[in-house]
Amino acid sequence: MSKNHTARGLEEINHEVIACRRCPRLVAWREQIATEKVKRYVDDTYWGKAVPGFGDSKQVKLLIMGLAPAAHGANRTGRMFTGDRSGDWLYRALFKAGFANQPESTQRDDGLSLSQTYISAVCRCAPPDNKPLPIEMIRCQDYLLAEWTLLRPPAGPLNVIIALGKIAFDATLKLDPPSGKKPAFGHGVLVTLPSGVLLIGSYHPSQQNTFTGRLTEPMFDAIFETAKTCIQAKM
Ligand code: SF4
Repeated sequence: MSKNHTARGLEEINHEVIACRRCPRLVAWREQIATEKVKRYVDDTYWGKAVPGFGDSKQVKLLIMGLAPAAHGANRTGRMFTGDRSGDWLYRALFKAGFANQPESTQRDDGLSLSQTYISAVCRCAPPDNKPLPIEMIRCQDYLLAEWTLLRPPAGPLNVIIALGKIAFDATLKLDPPSGKKPAFGHGVLVTLPSGVLLIGSYHPSQQNTFTGRLTEPMFDAIFETAKTCIQAKM
C-alpha cells in the first residue's frame, strides 16, 4: 500500500533526525554510551544516534510526547521507549487501551505495531542524567514543529496528545498556545488546545515515579482510557 502524505512527511523528518548532530554535548554522550555500554547489554550493538518517531504514521489520532531517549533503552535499540522500564509501562498501557498489538517492546524487530498512535519526544538524543539543556530542547523543537504541522487538524486527524511529564506538557503548549494563563501541569489535567486537540497531562512512567508509587498502573491506564474515549467520541 502506498504511503500517504503524512507518512511520507514523517519519514522525511525521521531521516533528518537520525542524521542530526546539532548538539555537540548530546552527540558525544549518546556515542560514548553506545561504545562503553552497560554490562547487561554488552553483546548488543547500540543505536547511538538520535531516535526517530515511531508509530502508525498514516492515521495519527493519538500522539505520545516523551522527554528524551534513555541511555540504555532507546539509545540502545533505536526505537522510542523500547528496551527499558518506562517502555514496559507505556506499551502495556497502549496495549490495554487497544492502541498496540502487544504489551512488550524489546527491540526494533519485535513485531510491535501501533494503531492510530505515534510516539515523539521533546529531545531526540539521550541526555546525561536524563536532563536535556534548554538550548538542546530549543534546537530539537524544529522536528516537533514539523511533526505538529503534519499531524494537527485540519492537515491531519490528530485528536489527543498525552504528554509524559511537565517538560513534555510545557513543550506541547508551546506548539499550540492557549490564550490566557498557562495551564499548570498535573496528572490527568485536560486542556483543549486552540486547534481542538485535547492535551492530557500524565506523570512520566519513569522508575522515579513508578517505584515510589507516585504513578500507579490504574492511574496510568486511566489516562489512556480518557484518550480512547475522546477519540471514539470524534469518530
Ligand atoms: S537533541 Fe535533537 S537537535 Fe540535538 S542533536 Fe539530537 S536530534 Fe539533533
